[in-house]
Amino acid sequence: MRVKGSVDIGVTVSLSSSLLSSYAAHPHRRALVLGGSSEARELATRIAADPRLDGVISLAGRTSAPLAHDLRARVGGFGGVEGLTRYLIEERISHVVDATHPFAARISANARAACAVAGVPLLVLTRPPWVSAQGDRWIDVDDNAAAVSALGVAPRRVFLAIGRQGVADFRAAPQHDYLLRVIEPPDSDDLPPSYEVIFGRGPFALADEIALMREGRIEIIVTKNSGGALAYAKIEAARMLGLDVVMIARPAGADAATTHSIDAAMAFLAS
Ligand code: NAP
Repeated sequence: MRVKGSVDIGVTVSLSSSLLSSYAAHPHRRALVLGGSSEARELATRIAADPRLDGVISLAGRTSAPLAHDLRARVGGFGGVEGLTRYLIEERISHVVDATHPFAARISANARAACAVAGVPLLVLTRPPWVSAQGDRWIDVDDNAAAVSALGVAPRRVFLAIGRQGVADFRAAPQHDYLLRVIEPPDSDDLPPSYEVIFGRGPFALADEIALMREGRIEIIVTKNSGGALAYAKIEAARMLGLDVVMIARPAGADAATTHSIDAAMAFLAS
């Protein structure tokens, strides 16, 4: 016999009833942390040090040299909602913390759907978005397409600080000269005609960011509103240099219990 669970993103997951009932019969605490952020690493360290908890951190596998984690790690996609639901049940996961990057919208939607089907409680752990301060010259936009428009028609020297995903969208504005900062090399097909690539992983120091923007003759910055301290120096540097910042808003997520606090995430996992 098969059991079907329907979830609100229109996905139907089919799992055997014996798998579901054996899952229900084993109460325990085993956390799945969906990772890819500094908050996820910190939470993983806390879980590894807590004798009450058992857990695993999941990484998408996008970076060839991921930072080490104190907790057991698994790498690679689950195979959509169905794969993640199956993983939750087979691995007897009792709690999920979605600590992915705030712009990783698909895995977060998948987590909501899979947790709903498997009946596993979910908490989103995310960093608060940056809020503009006095002296900031932000141009708020909703997505990459709007960011491209916000750069204007006249050629400019742009610091494109959005990571490598989404770089291809800026091919629509080939008149600009782009400085890209990435962890992994972007796909050459994604690059605009005039670009320079530098490699770097935060945290970045304010003095270095100011020097980068001065020496790079940067006129405008494009960034995602990732939030957090590790990447904030570029925002401060732009403020001090009087540069415009095109600030891409976070994708809207469906309602899910959310915290900005590692302590709250630990309390959730121990509940
Ligand atoms: P995404 O668009 O939301 O997810 C695409 C697919 O990648 C998912 O459907 C899933 O594959 C897989 N995936 C994503 N995160 C995963 C995880 N933690 N564990 C296992 N599989 C995962 O995600 P993305 O924007 O490509 O980001 C990928 C990773 O990079 C995430 O871990 C995220 O936290 C991190 N990151 C993203 C950004 C950003 O700006 N988007 C910035 C910094 C770090 P299946 O459907 O096969 O399960």
